[in-house]
Amino acid sequence: MIQKMLKFVNIGQQNPPKRDKIERKQDFNEIYKEFINERAKEQSSRCSQCGVPFCQVHCPLSNNIPDWLKLTAEGRHEEAYQLSQSTNNMPEVCGRICPQDRLCEGNCVIEQSGHGTVTIGSIEKYITETAWENGWVKPIEVTNEIDQSIGIIGAGSAGLACGEELRKKGYQITIYDRYDRAGGLLIYGIPNFKLEKQVVERRIKLLKDGGIKFVHNFEVGKDSNLKQLRDKHDAILIATGVYKAREVSVPGNDLSNIFPAMEFLTASNRKGLGDKVEMFDNGTLDAKDKNVVVIGGGDTAMDCVRTSIRQNAKSVKCIYRRDKENMPGSAREVTNAEEEGVEFIWLSNPKEFKGTNKVQSLIVDKMELGEPDDSGRRKPIVKENSEFEIKADLVIKALGFDPEELPKLFDEDRLQITKWRTVKVDFDTMETNIPGVFAAGDIVRGASLVVWAIKDGRDAAFSIDSYLQSKQKQKVA
Ligand SMILES: Cc1cc2nc3c(=O)[nH]c(=O)nc-3n(C[C@H](O)[C@H](O)[C@H](O)COP(=O)(O)OP(=O)(O)OC[C@H]3O[C@@H](n4cnc5c(N)ncnc54)[C@H](O)[C@@H]3O)c2cc1C
Ligand code: SF4
Repeated sequence: MIQKMLKFVNIGQQNPPKRDKIERKQDFNEIYKEFINERAKEQSSRCSQCGVPFCQVHCPLSNNIPDWLKLTAEGRHEEAYQLSQSTNNMPEVCGRICPQDRLCEGNCVIEQSGHGTVTIGSIEKYITETAWENGWVKPIEVTNEIDQSIGIIGAGSAGLACGEELRKKGYQITIYDRYDRAGGLLIYGIPNFKLEKQVVERRIKLLKDGGIKFVHNFEVGKDSNLKQLRDKHDAILIATGVYKAREVSVPGNDLSNIFPAMEFLTASNRKGLGDKVEMFDNGTLDAKDKNVVVIGGGDTAMDCVRTSIRQNAKSVKCIYRRDKENMPGSAREVTNAEEEGVEFIWLSNPKEFKGTNKVQSLIVDKMELGEPDDSGRRKPIVKENSEFEIKADLVIKALGFDPEELPKLFDEDRLQITKWRTVKVDFDTMETNIPGVFAAGDIVRGASLVVWAIKDGRDAAFSIDSYLQSKQKQKVA
């Protein structure tokens, strides 16, 4: 039956229900429930089918959102899934963790007319979960394998998306990763309550079943250098992400029980996966019964505070130097954290860590916002004589990440990098200055989003294919 669209006037916006805040603090499971079929159809039918769909324009993958919403409203779920997956390698992941308020949903026309956005992310998740349940998600079948191979360094979102696209074309793909599991930050960074691990593991299995080879515990820079890997494959993709934690340079930074965010989150994620983690098991990285202070205002900080809540911390505070309106984290995640009992101390900045051996408290300056800086954001300035003290048994630094020094690490001086130490590429091709070596994801953009990493991985796959085809033609000629 043809479903009438444009129902936003009569049907109100509904998100899938959130689990009760008391209940969800007791475990690490995802906090949003699934749409039921009728609700997904109804919510999809709210779409106004714009001639120029701003949601699609503002989706980094240019997902054909209006069309898959219409198909869902009509109950044509398999077609909706086929369309959605044609531009996105992990729609169920993006549906869960994209900051939709800043991307597709934030630009929905009916949101701007005051009716509340179409809940695009939840519907994208619904379509893909329905596809998994019905067996529509299938591994790649290669009938004619091409005698050319691509080595991908990094099994995160960018590496996986690129590998999948090239495997679909028949190339031989090997993905190397220094970790023991594939997924990158999807597995060891982002906590379960945002993205359950089985969602990522299911994707990895699909790629393995499609013939992609994974080599784990293989660190480029230790187990091989870039040249050795380049000699082994016809093309290389660098998709190593950014992992060097930014520091807080204040007195007392060397006291114990002050940790970078990734150390804390990786320990928690590993525990959830059933690993033995000595630093967690001996209580050091476990927030239980501790006064936890997280420094930072991005998504990583939000993940740290909410993990601490679930580990039964005595208190959890988040200090951030700007105000709520100017923080980089997703508004949705801040609301979730507030509901779960996190205390935010806006406009505050650490001045000193105090304690004997172990951190016991932080001296914090009050800040105010001054004139906009080069980035256009108002600059935080210390308020004179405003300092105060906060008790802390565990401090987590979540101030962002920088790239590692890849030319040095990979023993390849020729590899050009930018002034931010990201790998320099030609943005039309994603190729570095070394022929046949491409790069994608956070290592090119700096710390960014999963959806951008997928986009880069797909773009790099397109260029690698063109590069290898022209190489093949030259051989034949
Ligand atoms: C805590 C946290 C929460 C986040 N939450 C969100 C969110 O909610 N939504 C969102 O869209 N984005 C989020 N992000 C950002 C998102 O995770 C990243 O933008 C995305 O994962 C980048 O993908 P990538 O493939 O470039 O890198 P990564 O996912 O970091 O993968 C890189 C891979 O390369 C491997 N590697 C690195 N160096 C080497 C080497 N020398 N040899 C071999 N392997 C190597 C690593 O082990 C890793 O597996 C979050 C990030 C963090 C840290
Ligand atoms: S991939 Fe992200 S931005 Fe694009 S439609 Fe899905 S949720 Fe929105």
